[in-house]
Amino acid sequence: MGGKIRDTDDEYIGVEGRDDASKFLVSPRQNKDHSTNTVLRVWGSTFKPALKKECLRLGVKIFDRVMVTNLLTEDGRQGAKVVGATGLNNRTGEFLIFKAKATILATAGNYSQYLLNTELAGYNTFRSRNSTGDGTVMAWRAGAELTMMESTFPINLGTGFLHTWYAGAGDASYENVPLVDANNKELPIPTQGWKDGSMPGDWRKVRDVLRDGVLKGKYELPFYGDFPAMPEIESRVTWKMMLREESVSRIIVDTYSEAGFDPTKHQLISYQLLEGQLPLHWRNVGKGGLLVDWELKTTLEGLYAAGEQLFSARDHSFCAATGRYAGRKAAQYVRKARKPVIAREQVEQEKARIYAPIKRTSGIEWKELHAGIARAMQYFCGQYITDRLLNMGLQTLREIEEEYVPKLFALDPHKLMRSIEDLHLLAYGQIVMHASLARKAKNELLNFNRIDYPEGGPQEWNQFITIKLEDGKVKTKKLPLDYCGDPVKNYEAYNKDYQGVYRRK
Ligand SMILES: Cc1cc2nc3c(=O)[nH]c(=O)nc-3n(C[C@H](O)[C@H](O)[C@H](O)COP(=O)(O)OP(=O)(O)OC[C@H]3O[C@@H](n4cnc5c(N)ncnc54)[C@H](O)[C@@H]3O)c2cc1C
Repeated sequence: MGGKIRDTDDEYIGVEGRDDASKFLVSPRQNKDHSTNTVLRVWGSTFKPALKKECLRLGVKIFDRVMVTNLLTEDGRQGAKVVGATGLNNRTGEFLIFKAKATILATAGNYSQYLLNTELAGYNTFRSRNSTGDGTVMAWRAGAELTMMESTFPINLGTGFLHTWYAGAGDASYENVPLVDANNKELPIPTQGWKDGSMPGDWRKVRDVLRDGVLKGKYELPFYGDFPAMPEIESRVTWKMMLREESVSRIIVDTYSEAGFDPTKHQLISYQLLEGQLPLHWRNVGKGGLLVDWELKTTLEGLYAAGEQLFSARDHSFCAATGRYAGRKAAQYVRKARKPVIAREQVEQEKARIYAPIKRTSGIEWKELHAGIARAMQYFCGQYITDRLLNMGLQTLREIEEEYVPKLFALDPHKLMRSIEDLHLLAYGQIVMHASLARKAKNELLNFNRIDYPEGGPQEWNQFITIKLEDGKVKTKKLPLDYCGDPVKNYEAYNKDYQGVYRRK
């Protein structure tokens, strides 16, 4: 498609991990000899324009600035075939109706559920501010089955309340930059990770190993990422590729560079230990998402899902691969799918729901509503969970829905979009609480701190809990972990038309 993945201009000859034949830059992380390392440093900033260009070349019609608000179903019935979607243009306020034989949801995860921070960072976590669980809630309202919705995790980066959790010897971006203290004394943080497999910048390790040293006067704060201690080519590739090509940090790199920062000469301050830890009730919803089958089809006919929209999603390679797969399967389905017929009444109902906040000029604005929902999540579905807390949480969210949502107002299309996101966050929170109620066991590994069910053993954990709306009522079920059957046999059975092309020798 034109995304740059090779060092074709020979900018980084000699850098660790560069394969001179292919010109790939293999990340120096993980194993030193790169025998199993599949992580490449790429020119990430070239990807999105390339993707858009390719879509246009293929004749894909793109509706920019349109927030999809809801799915349309046959006869407007919950649980029926999906026949399209509605949208809101966040610049003009225009309402759009899409008719579709097949629909693929790919609105990613939800990174806004537990926190609102617009003043310090402009977002809540380092993910896109648009990731508010819209797709999951749309599918929920349409009657699709979801799973793992009870999983939540403490937020560990990018809230804007912390400058950063790593800088030097950290996770992906700075992984190979050694850390030193204020007197240039090297800190004992292994740049390739700790022996027990934790990331180099794991704050627990850093805290345990370094805090004592600082308190006893062995190390002096602040710490620095010691770029100049690295070979010149390594500091340059880390600064220009690993930081500048990861879109969120590009602006930081450019701002520092304009101000005169030169990684071959200057150290970069690290905020480790200067900043405290984030409270454990500031969380992200975890691995929940749409339940899918071998076609990446959801439990609703005509509805497919891809990327972080799926339960237990992983990062980029997972998202790209599932996107391609879901697209292929949806395209096959379209050939035999019946004509979509839209129920006008459902459209009118959605239009009324979407436009309600612009009928008012005072009351509650989206930020206040979002903050209230986030607080309810923190208090009642946070570090500790019990039946009582979860029921109080559901009651609180219901109160918000009944008392405050009718006061929600928006003065422009952008704020209207944020308001609709809030409505989705409200529904999402309820789903998480219902799913948490259904999972009656504690599991520390999964951060599910059910203190009223401390004994839950493997029999309670070794199954999925699925959740859906049926005739407006919440239904939960248990599903075996291996419901998808044998991966190899099924992949082959479901991809007869495809595997010949890519089958491994
Ligand atoms: C800073 C950063 C660094 C990362 N580093 C790596 C890395 O090194 N390696 C790696 O593998 N992964 C990395 N990831 C993760 C990876 O980028 C994501 O897992 C992946 O891009 C998710 O793909 P997706 O298609 O599911 O969702 P996204 O790429 O998030 O796309 C979802 C899209 O849906 C849109 N959307 C949301 N709601 C609506 C709605 N209602 N209507 C219409 N559109 C909507 C959003 O605007 C967005 O464009 C990183 C992510 C970030 C943020």
